[in-house]
Amino acid sequence: MLMRIPFTQPLPAATVIPSSAATAAGAVSALQNFLNPRSSSQPRGNGKTTILSGAGISVASGLADYRGSNGTYTLNKTYRPIYFHEFSASHEARKRYWARSYLGWTTLNRSHPNAGHHAVAALGDMGIISSVITQNVDSFHPMAHPTLPTIELHGYLRSTVCLSCRTEYDRAKFQDDLAALNPTWAAFLAEMLQSGALSTEHPEERRMKGLKTNPDGDVDVPGVEYNTFRYPACPACLEKPPEGKHVEIDSDGAWSAKSNAGVLKPNVIMFGESIPDSTKSAVEVAIDEASRILVLGSSLATYSAFRLIRRAQEQSMPVGFVNMGGIRNEELLLAGLAPDTNGEDGVRCAQPLEALLPSLVERLRTAPATDMPFIPATFQPAPWA
Ligand SMILES: [Zn+2]
Repeated sequence: MLMRIPFTQPLPAATVIPSSAATAAGAVSALQNFLNPRSSSQPRGNGKTTILSGAGISVASGLADYRGSNGTYTLNKTYRPIYFHEFSASHEARKRYWARSYLGWTTLNRSHPNAGHHAVAALGDMGIISSVITQNVDSFHPMAHPTLPTIELHGYLRSTVCLSCRTEYDRAKFQDDLAALNPTWAAFLAEMLQSGALSTEHPEERRMKGLKTNPDGDVDVPGVEYNTFRYPACPACLEKPPEGKHVEIDSDGAWSAKSNAGVLKPNVIMFGESIPDSTKSAVEVAIDEASRILVLGSSLATYSAFRLIRRAQEQSMPVGFVNMGGIRNEELLLAGLAPDTNGEDGVRCAQPLEALLPSLVERLRTAPATDMPFIPATFQPAPWA
């Protein structure tokens, strides 16, 4: 069983290997060598790279990272994500969760993939990437590159899912249901939107306007009571309750505490919740079939991500890391990497992804034909050749 568990210890400072990767141009060169499928040090796999991405790649979309460069929760010192057992057991915990999610949804729903995600799409079109595994729940990867296979390791916020019957529902529609059940909150949200507190992409400005947005898309409102918040029941379970269960609603259609089924949850893997076996197998295949792994914007703080990289290293696969801050057990992960590598065996750098990845794509596109480190996916031999 694989469970999502937060890592709360401080992380080490970011290191840079090779030292030339400390500059943007040097980091591009090292990554160019790293991605080269003809590299002699990478004999195994499909010749392609699997990407593992984390919150760092979504920062440029206006979504905050959990961790700053020193590895602590910088955004909101008192923030503690909800645990699955709390959500599934407690009506009160769910009211609080959905109230905050109701306010936070607007920001997420208005955010878009950024230059980093689009560069991943371009690398996919070049035939360099075989798949993307993401820890992010914002769905920016599948939006940016719908044809490049993406596995969302921790689920996604774009749907809710019923804890009883597993039916999925559209989160945007669910937002309308929450507004209808909670007119006071809907008015408050409208006020917040009008004040611009939710429209700025700068966490500092939001904080000044009395709001704190957290990485899972929820919002803290100082001094607000959550216990009056209402949320709907699963329509499928309401229509036909599971065997031996009953679902009750109030006169407006809100889930009643007299029920013992039909609870909707965001379709994310919450902390303390198990990752489904089908997802676990899919990510293992994605790792095992690749020739190398590139970590983008993740401190590997959750064990589910960390162990995937260890799995790759146990198979002697080169691993590249681009992350602004430190990485969990950084010293251990980089132990086998020679300081004078040209990047073929691995790379560790700390550059902003929204600038680095487009530069890398540009470099690969303009590389002289003789240095072309890859064959574009669209390449067709001339008919007379
Ligand atoms: Zn249901």
